[in-house]
Amino acid sequence: MPDGESRRQTRTIRDARGLAAAGLIPPGAEAAAARVAGRYAISVTDHVARLMNPADPADPIALQYIPDSAELLTAPGETDDPTADGPFTPVKGVVHRYPDRALLKPLLACPVYCRFCFRREVVGPDGGLLTEAELEAALAWFERTPAVREAVLTGGDPFMLSARRLGAMLRRLAAVPHIETLRVHTRVPVADPARVDAALVQALRVEKPVYVALHANHAREFAAEATAALSRLADAGVPLLGQSVLLRGVNDSAEALEALFRAMLRARVKPYYLHALDPAPGVSRFAVPDAEGLRLLEGLRGKVPGHGLPVFVRESPAGGGKRPVARASGA
Ligand SMILES: *Cc1c(COP(=O)(O)O)cnc(C)c1O
Ligand code: SF4
Repeated sequence: MPDGESRRQTRTIRDARGLAAAGLIPPGAEAAAARVAGRYAISVTDHVARLMNPADPADPIALQYIPDSAELLTAPGETDDPTADGPFTPVKGVVHRYPDRALLKPLLACPVYCRFCFRREVVGPDGGLLTEAELEAALAWFERTPAVREAVLTGGDPFMLSARRLGAMLRRLAAVPHIETLRVHTRVPVADPARVDAALVQALRVEKPVYVALHANHAREFAAEATAALSRLADAGVPLLGQSVLLRGVNDSAEALEALFRAMLRARVKPYYLHALDPAPGVSRFAVPDAEGLRLLEGLRGKVPGHGLPVFVRESPAGGGKRPVARASGA
């Protein structure tokens, strides 16, 4: 990987043997985990490993990252591209579904690989770093598409780039006259908080506002190191938004969701979206019916501050984009 991209990965667990050696799976589970890893990448950072309680089979942190044989079974309705990005890709690395904003996916590597990931067929450790020429073509697309007023960097996880490369990308986009705001979607502050260092924070200081949308699903992800990383961003004036996925066993109770949204508020993160699970292959063990999600969120209305409640959304399978989950579509 170029420049600093791999600098903090030395203690990241990337295979079944590593999980067993760290005591995160029982020795007898190694072969099954290795079979899953052959299809979907494993990554558990040192920080996340320390948050797990391997003695608890229902641990909400471990459930998000420890592979399970059920991942190799594709349920009816599950698809490789559940958000239907394909038809909305004008050039490699760009997804343009809404007139005023578009995604830029500069790489497909993440600090951790979530077992429920909606992009699991494409994300991975050696995945999809755009070449200089591809990045140039993607940036040129933004420059020649005046309808686009927001560039949303996602992937993969853009905070896996070196501060130098991320800063260069943001500066280039910020210099485009019709681009008014920038946004970076990331799991790094809760998955590998030490990466949010002074250089990375400095890279976000460009001539247009940069919003950071944090992906977190459980209150325990807001450990001291994560909260400190988020403070470094918030203290630099970066507005923080929270995105979560409603996940069976992780946050599918009123108590877990309330704790999650309150943890976000304490960390200066505004809960933005609660996503219904996208039907990527092998993720059905995490599915929660829409009616149950609606009931959980409605139960929190009035119990937590209004700005602590996200909008419950689902990606429409036909490529129509995110829609609020409505009662009529429920169950
Ligand atoms: C989710 C998404 C966005 C951002 O949508 P917001 O509702 O503004 O958060 C933009 N483009 C695509 C293709 C998306 O899937
Ligand atoms: S961080 Fe996001 S893109 Fe990466 S594996 Fe998790 S859900 Fe998928």
